[in-house]
Amino acid sequence: MKIRADIAELLHAGHRDNAIAKQLGACPKTVARARAALGLPTDPAGRTVYDTLEDAFRAHTEPTDNGHLLWTGSFNSGVPTIRHKGHRHSAYLIAYRIGHGHDPQGRCRPDCGRPGCVAPGHVDDGPGRARTRDTYAAIFGEEAAS
Ligand SMILES: [Zn+2]
Repeated sequence: MKIRADIAELLHAGHRDNAIAKQLGACPKTVARARAALGLPTDPAGRTVYDTLEDAFRAHTEPTDNGHLLWTGSFNSGVPTIRHKGHRHSAYLIAYRIGHGHDPQGRCRPDCGRPGCVAPGHVDDGPGRARTRDTYAAIFGEEAAS
């Protein structure tokens, strides 16, 4: 079958069948057939299922031409968030794990000044930010990493 490029794009981005149908004015059955033809698995709500959290993370990011990685997924209270296999995860946390190879201590946030950036190298945890402040000779312990 012929798959509409706009439908394929939104399917690959992890959107739900009904949301895609509504956005593009397409029939939900057409979207479901396109999903099946592309070999994309779905959960009961019609969302794409990714094998790993990292795959799911990568599917919701978009690199900028100046080194940042913008989040294209949803936000929860301002935090980029992803649902994977029934659990909600902070995209900052996933980015930190990818960049550092271990879990963060405390909350993670991007340190690059670009809101919504989830580049693994730009996300740091509390102690990481404190070390950065040290490096720049800021006063250690001031305004404890929050
Ligand atoms: Zn950044």
